[in-house]
Amino acid sequence: MKNSNLSSESLMMSFGYNASEHQGSVKCPLFQTSTFVFKTAEEGKAFFEIAYGLREKQPDEQLGMIYSRLDNPNLSLAEKRLALWDGGEDALFFASGMAGISTVALTFLKPGDVLLYTSPVYGGTEHLFNHVLPQFGIEAVKFYDCDDFDSIVCKLGAKKPGLIYAEIPGNPTNTLIDMEICVRLANHFAKNGTKPPIVVDNTFLGPVFQHPLQLGADISLYSATKFIGGHSDVVAGACVGSSEWISPIRTMRTFLGSMLDPHSSWLILRSLETLKVRMEQQAKSAAKVAAYLRTHPQVAKLYYLGFLDDSPADKAIFERQCTSPGSMISFEIKGGEKEAFRFLNNLKLFKLAVSLGSTESLAEHPATMTHADVSADEKERLGINERLIRLSIGLENADDLIKAIEKAFGV
Ligand SMILES: *Cc1c(COP(=O)(O)O)cnc(C)c1O
Repeated sequence: MKNSNLSSESLMMSFGYNASEHQGSVKCPLFQTSTFVFKTAEEGKAFFEIAYGLREKQPDEQLGMIYSRLDNPNLSLAEKRLALWDGGEDALFFASGMAGISTVALTFLKPGDVLLYTSPVYGGTEHLFNHVLPQFGIEAVKFYDCDDFDSIVCKLGAKKPGLIYAEIPGNPTNTLIDMEICVRLANHFAKNGTKPPIVVDNTFLGPVFQHPLQLGADISLYSATKFIGGHSDVVAGACVGSSEWISPIRTMRTFLGSMLDPHSSWLILRSLETLKVRMEQQAKSAAKVAAYLRTHPQVAKLYYLGFLDDSPADKAIFERQCTSPGSMISFEIKGGEKEAFRFLNNLKLFKLAVSLGSTESLAEHPATMTHADVSADEKERLGINERLIRLSIGLENADDLIKAIEKAFGV
């Protein structure tokens, strides 16, 4: 789709938009409309034939908009620009990350199918897979970063997965999953020329520091509420991939009505312009904060992708798959829930809130907040205990953040 040697950050201010068609407006205007006027009835008929897949588009045929559930200029421009970052042919934005995940799941899975997924995943994803999809006859089977190819195949027995879903890094402990295992599994379970799609939740590091499509994934998926939106003012989701994989998801989105609205799409266009500079600065500050936490006497354990020397296997995966540790840090405080809550209640400058990837730094307690829904056994297994605190590093001065942490420990 990209027809230029320019890098993505250069294209974010111009790609796909012609100011002279919009009275010279430097920014793409907001198309706050539900429906679009056809010039003629014949044109309306032609647009529907293509949108509903009743015939192929002619090579020279110009298509227009129909209705904002199917498409909208703000939505389609945001999609074209997001696709550039991930090197995909096509992209879709959804009303939320969960809207994206559920639309993708319902596109590729039907009753009787098995969904293979990594653990840990985002709390809402875990609930969807284990409590909602089973109501539609879809069974979820999970695997962990410590499982190898043979043990996963053995776990599945006679079952064949219809979709392979990996959250990398896994929330909230930055768990790394080897993409090579996912690719081997997809090839192993391919039949009659069709293989289960590999879907990667790329929310934590993408689309700047990790490119799943280049690592063998078919669909790179996002909660765009996080780094892509980046200002804690939009709830959105997205996915990127080849036209072949994205096209059926687009059709499903049309009929579920899970698309992103024009105003949120417009805000996403604003956010995409600063995406790289935000993520890079946040990662820089996170490295400073992590270095401070590493030697702090009240820190019992630190989960940060920049410090993997003690786990060479993870370090090798990190070096193959990621280009930066990003800006998510989790750590165990010495003590228990009481000490963790005291730290959080006294932590200034950070906002005590869930979500992540925004301009402001955020802190939360996964065991009782984002992962409250995960069973006690599973929490213990994943290291989501009462001592664990998750930080998302924003754009404040890193030394100010460290001072705030120092103070919160001292109370
Ligand atoms: C937040 C989040 C989601 C869910 O996205 P929403 O936009 O809140 O619906 C999914 N995956 C990850 C990794 C997340 O952090």
